[in-house]
Amino acid sequence: MPRTIHIIGAGLAGLAAAVELARHGMAVVVHEATKVAGGRARSYHDAALGMVIDNGNHLLLAGNHAALGYVRRLGTEHRLIGPPAAQFSFIDLANGDQWTLRFNDGRLPWWIFDPDKRVPDTHLVDYLALARLLWGAPGKVVGEVIRFSGPVYERLVRPLLLAALNIDPAIGSAKLAGAVIRETLAAGGRACRPLIAREGLGSTLIEPALAFLAEHGAAVRFGDQLRALRAAGTTIEALDFGSNTVALAPADAVVLAIPPYAAASIVPGLETPTEFRAIVNAHYRIDPPPGQPPILGVLNATTEWIFAFPGRIAVTVSAADRLLDTPRETLAQQIWTEVAAVTGLPRELPRWQIVRERRATFAATPEQDARRPGARTAWSNLFLAGDWTNTGLPATIESAIRSGQRAAALAAQI
Ligand SMILES: Cc1cc2nc3c(=O)[nH]c(=O)nc-3n(C[C@H](O)[C@H](O)[C@H](O)COP(=O)(O)OP(=O)(O)OC[C@H]3O[C@@H](n4cnc5c(N)ncnc54)[C@H](O)[C@@H]3O)c2cc1C
Repeated sequence: MPRTIHIIGAGLAGLAAAVELARHGMAVVVHEATKVAGGRARSYHDAALGMVIDNGNHLLLAGNHAALGYVRRLGTEHRLIGPPAAQFSFIDLANGDQWTLRFNDGRLPWWIFDPDKRVPDTHLVDYLALARLLWGAPGKVVGEVIRFSGPVYERLVRPLLLAALNIDPAIGSAKLAGAVIRETLAAGGRACRPLIAREGLGSTLIEPALAFLAEHGAAVRFGDQLRALRAAGTTIEALDFGSNTVALAPADAVVLAIPPYAAASIVPGLETPTEFRAIVNAHYRIDPPPGQPPILGVLNATTEWIFAFPGRIAVTVSAADRLLDTPRETLAQQIWTEVAAVTGLPRELPRWQIVRERRATFAATPEQDARRPGARTAWSNLFLAGDWTNTGLPATIESAIRSGQRAAALAAQI
C-alpha cells in the first residue's frame, strides 16, 4: 500500500515539507485550519488600501540558501528582487545623518577597512569585537557578549539583530545572534544581498507552492483544523479533525507544522517556546518618490525600516509589543510623519492600514530558545516543523523552510 504523509499547517514550513515530499513522488495531504495558505507570510486583498498587500514586509538575504532553493524549485526566484550588491541605506532622524553600508562580495570584510563603506564615525577595532558573537555563547544574551553601545552597535548591530531576532538585541540570545552573523556578515557580501518579493509573498512563495503540489498530485484541504492525535504506543494511528477522523496506515507519517502554542495543545508533554514578540507594519497607498531605496533603515524613530513597493510604502517595527495598545489612527499618523520627513512626501496622511501580528515570532531569548524541540518526537511517525523548532536560527522564513525540509526528510525515511 502506498504511504501517505500528512502535513498539518500550510505555512512555509508545511509547504516546504510538502513540496519536498511531493517532488520525490510521495503521496501528500496538507491540512490547513484556515481558508488560506501562507500562515504568517501571506498576501491578501486589503479593503482599506484597495490593493493586495503582504501582512508584513519580509526580507530575505541571498545567503538564505534553503529559502532560495525553495523558490528555485518553484521557478519563482526571479520574483525576489534586490540590488546587484549588498548595500543598506540608513538615515538617523535625530540628526539627519545618512549613510549607505556597502559590503564587498567576498568573505573577507574589506568594507570595514574603508571609511566610505562602513558606518560613519567608526573604527576597525569596533568591528573586531563582533567576532565574539561568532562562537556562540550558550545561555548568554548579546549584551553579555558585546558592548551594546557605541556607533557600530547603534548603527549596524542593533538594527540588524533587532530585525533578525525580533527582540531588543541586548536581551536576545547570543547564540541566535551568532548564527545570524555567521550566515550574513561573516559569510561575505554575496550572502547579505537583500531580496524582497516585490510582487508579494503570495505570488512568490505560496501560490506557486500550491500549484506545484497540485501538479504533483498532492491534496491540500483548507478549513481542516487538527484537534487531536490518537496514539497507540509509540505510533500515531489517527488524526482527529473534529468532524472527521483520518486513520493512518502503519507506514504513514505526520509532519506537524503549526505554531508552538497550537502544537503544545495537541502533542502531550511537548515543551515549546511560550513567549512571543509582535511586529507592526504600517502600509500607505502612495507612490514612493523617485530614487527612494527599496529598503531604508531609520534610526531614532518608531519607524525602523521603510520598504518601497510600486504604489505603496510600508514600514516595519520589530519587537513592537509597546505599540499594541496605541490606537491605530495615532500609529498611522505618527509613523507617516516620520516617513514624510524622511522621503519628502506630503505630510497629509494617505490611505493607510496597520497590521499588528501579536505573536509574530517566539521571543528569541536564551530561555525560550532552550525550549525549542527537535524534529523527532516520542512517536516514531510524528515529526515537528516550524520556525520555532530547533533549527539554530531565529524565527525566519529560512528557519521555517529548513525545518520543513528536515521534517520531510525524516518522514520519508521511516
Ligand atoms: C509581520 C511579520 C514580518 C516578518 N518578517 C520576516 C522577515 O523579514 N524575514 C523573515 O525571514 N521572516 C520574517 N517573519 C517570520 C516568518 O513570517 C515566519 O518565520 C514564517 O512565516 C513561519 O512559517 P511557519 O510555517 O513556521 O509558521 P506559520 O506561518 O505560523 O504557519 C502555521 C500554519 O499552521 C496553521 N495551523 C495552526 N493550527 C493548525 C491546526 N490545528 N490544524 C491545521 N493547521 C493549523 C496556521 O493557520 C498556519 O497556516 C515575519 C513574520 C511576521 C508575522
